[in-house]
Amino acid sequence: MDSVSDTAIRDVVIVGGGTAGWMAAAALAQHLRHTPVTITVVESSEIGTIGVGEATIPTIRRFYAQLGMTDADVMGATEASCKLGIRFVGWGGTGSDFIHPFGLYGQDLNGVGFHNYWMKQRQSGDATPLAAYSLGASLAKAGKFTEPSPNPPSSLSVFDWALHLDASLFAKHLRAYAEASGVKRIDARIGGVDLRPSDGFIEALVLDDGRKVAGDLFVDCSGFRGLLIGEAMGSAYEDWGRWLDCDAAFAVQSKNAPGSEPVPYTRVTAHSAGWQWGIPLRHRAGNGLVFSSRHMTDQEALDALMPNLMGKPITEPRRIGFRPGRRDRAWVKNCVALGLSAGFLEPLESTSIALIENGIERLKALFPDRTFAPAVVDEFNDQSAREMERTRDFIILHYWLNGRDEPFWRERREAEIPDTLRKKVELWKARGQFVRYRWEMFHPASWLAIYDGFDRMPDRIDPAVEGVPARDLDVSLQQMRAAIADAVARTPSHGAFLSQFASPK
Ligand code: FAD
Repeated sequence: MDSVSDTAIRDVVIVGGGTAGWMAAAALAQHLRHTPVTITVVESSEIGTIGVGEATIPTIRRFYAQLGMTDADVMGATEASCKLGIRFVGWGGTGSDFIHPFGLYGQDLNGVGFHNYWMKQRQSGDATPLAAYSLGASLAKAGKFTEPSPNPPSSLSVFDWALHLDASLFAKHLRAYAEASGVKRIDARIGGVDLRPSDGFIEALVLDDGRKVAGDLFVDCSGFRGLLIGEAMGSAYEDWGRWLDCDAAFAVQSKNAPGSEPVPYTRVTAHSAGWQWGIPLRHRAGNGLVFSSRHMTDQEALDALMPNLMGKPITEPRRIGFRPGRRDRAWVKNCVALGLSAGFLEPLESTSIALIENGIERLKALFPDRTFAPAVVDEFNDQSAREMERTRDFIILHYWLNGRDEPFWRERREAEIPDTLRKKVELWKARGQFVRYRWEMFHPASWLAIYDGFDRMPDRIDPAVEGVPARDLDVSLQQMRAAIADAVARTPSHGAFLSQFASPK
């Protein structure tokens, strides 16, 4: 048997210096700090990065905490604002407006989900919306923010938060960390890849200036092109266009109006054949329209986007085409794909950066040696595939439940959905219960937020709740609402919270 040091990975080469490349470099440098492994990032400043990807989910905070970075460090460095959830405007039809918060609703009683009690009260004529029982949603609606208590007095005080951040400043911050941890950087265009004739493993990158960069493990963070995983290793792309029809976006930045406060949520507004994002940062906002090119021309997309920005435009709108889907195998031989090279889901629930984080965690947990045992590679591929599929299902749900009248939306409502999703929605409808599969990113509270947002409550409530006296329930629910309203009243505005951060130099 080989000793560990004979087969240990010595050189890791990361292709690409976008969000994925620098996240991977920083995290691997930290994880492997007690090993002699060298890490090199090869990126081309001529090619540049995708330049979008600014709304996150709370896992981002766990990611950078592992690197020893505080919220204040990252918020200070990236012009970030706080995000309590996503506000969906117009998805259920005219006037529809709801928030998917990062947190729970109400308090479960006697082991029965809170939504059952809320539904029972609704049946008795109480019109209080479910969102009134979510501190996260209530703070978001009020434009307020404070960090949640580390020791919440009750589940009513539980909420989580994420950031809206400037993607280029975030990559810069991670790069500084990675370089200080010994990561080397080469700014050059990769023109080719040398494969070992005996087994097709990658031996070296061939740069346009003729230099070669050899390595044991290659991490492909080259973006949509999938320079290594697709072009060199031949991993096919599974196209999910039959479920997710949007295939293009226009992105544009806008300046915040003087004296305005960024809202503490991402806004996603439905349009006739797609939807618009609004991501408020401290100094500017990111805006964009995701649309179906089968239903909307580029000009129609621009006409929908430009009059509705979060401020005056400061960049030209930029078109980005994409294909929803994933690499058949994210890891092939000695090449692992992370980020856009591994697959793409439209940013409706801000999942791409979270998928990168989880891919990095997976790579750390399954970090190989130079034998690249098939069991390790297969496990990585299986986990990655399942996670992407579960996330895809959650995105499809939003389209499938829509209540709009345009042809695009009617088509989405009538489209086939994957079996995994069908099982979930059928169980919800029949019994108000949630299935949580392995490698699922979104908790039941998130599914509840979407079902409720589209007013899709189950056919019946939990039998254990049916007989609970309405008067008792009324008192409990009123107390919950009062506790949340009190917490909101005591919380400062989002702008007041952000005023502690200066702009980066
Ligand atoms: P890129 O940023 O494209 O980086 C690729 C890197 O590879 C670059 O450094 C490039 O120079 C290098 N490279 C490529 N070819 C070569 C070569 N031949 N030689 C040398 N170097 C090369 N995610 C979220 O989490 N939240 C969001 O709100 C969000 N919004 C999005 C909106 C849109 C419209 C799109 C398309 C994506 C969005 N994403 C979002 C996804 C997010 O942008 C990406 O997941 C993230 O930026 C990571 O990109 P990347 O690093 O994989 O690729």
